[in-house]
Amino acid sequence: MNTVLYLVIPCYNEEEVLHETARQLKEKIEIMISKGTISNQSRIMFVNDGSKDKTWSIIKELHNKDSLFSGLNLSRNRGHQNALLAGLMTAKDLSDVTISLDADLQDDIHVIDRFIEKYHDGYDVVYGVRSSRAKDTWFKRNTALAFYRFQEKMGVNSVYNHADYRLMSKRALEALSQFKEVNLFLRGLVPLVGFDSCIVEYERNERFAGESKYPLKKMLSFAWDGITSFSIKPIRFVTLIGIIIFVVSILVTFYCIIRKLMGDTVDGWTFLSCSIWVLGGIQLLSIGIVGEYIGKIYSETKARPRYIIKEILDEKTV
Ligand code: UDP
Ligand code: MG
Repeated sequence: MNTVLYLVIPCYNEEEVLHETARQLKEKIEIMISKGTISNQSRIMFVNDGSKDKTWSIIKELHNKDSLFSGLNLSRNRGHQNALLAGLMTAKDLSDVTISLDADLQDDIHVIDRFIEKYHDGYDVVYGVRSSRAKDTWFKRNTALAFYRFQEKMGVNSVYNHADYRLMSKRALEALSQFKEVNLFLRGLVPLVGFDSCIVEYERNERFAGESKYPLKKMLSFAWDGITSFSIKPIRFVTLIGIIIFVVSILVTFYCIIRKLMGDTVDGWTFLSCSIWVLGGIQLLSIGIVGEYIGKIYSETKARPRYIIKEILDEKTV
């Protein structure tokens, strides 16, 4: 079988892990090429997402020593999702099938064989799903769980415990390229692409060097995109609260008039101040949520490019 496989690996300040990642992936890919599972035109593509350290020079060095490694250099840091998309869209034209994974070897590379088996069985998308999160911190494990539950409630279709370790065929990528949104959340988009998909379970390892490039702030903003880019339920929720409060306010008005007619209007300070605070709070929250969506419309209508490529190191492109 002559399947051309591209591994796509977004990298942001990964100088500490890159040599080891490259070594392990090369070993893996060479075994697969020698067994004839994949073609010798297969490549390991590192995408440099505007790193501030030596990441790009390491990628260049790897490519110069061995054409098995290709590189893509973005013009500046665009974030994990955009860097991944840049890699996938470039690899799409050079390969039959791609697998995306993290630079830190948290995704167990030994299941790549099973991904390819599934591809040969006819699946266009194979999701790598973590069988357990035992190696994550307590905080990450629980916030992730809460996020998946909330997403589910909001009606977003995504695969449970699947990060971006995933196989996609050429035609699945062609379909993905038709989604033009700027606020990218690939885990939510890929299920919308359709085609036959399946799951492969794996154990997630610890990052073997360096720090996570997803601090809490980035994680929260990513989770928020994962909801607001796909679901209008938060807006419906605001409408529902509006209706309920309107009904309650009619009852409250009756209550106030009756008390006024009965002549005791002196007390009521508690009631008034509570109303002001509660309503003020709800209004602010609502404006905030609506504003989020307007912000999304704003960035989508501008339709700015999601990434700009500065350099490609791959002998097939020259
Ligand atoms: N990454 C990136 N651009 C960024 C942040 C992260 O390309 O702005 C890459 C990073 O190099 C890694 C992957 O995205 O390959 C996932 O990041 P990380 O492993 O730090 O996240 P975690 O596994 O802790 O969620
Ligand atoms: Mg990681």
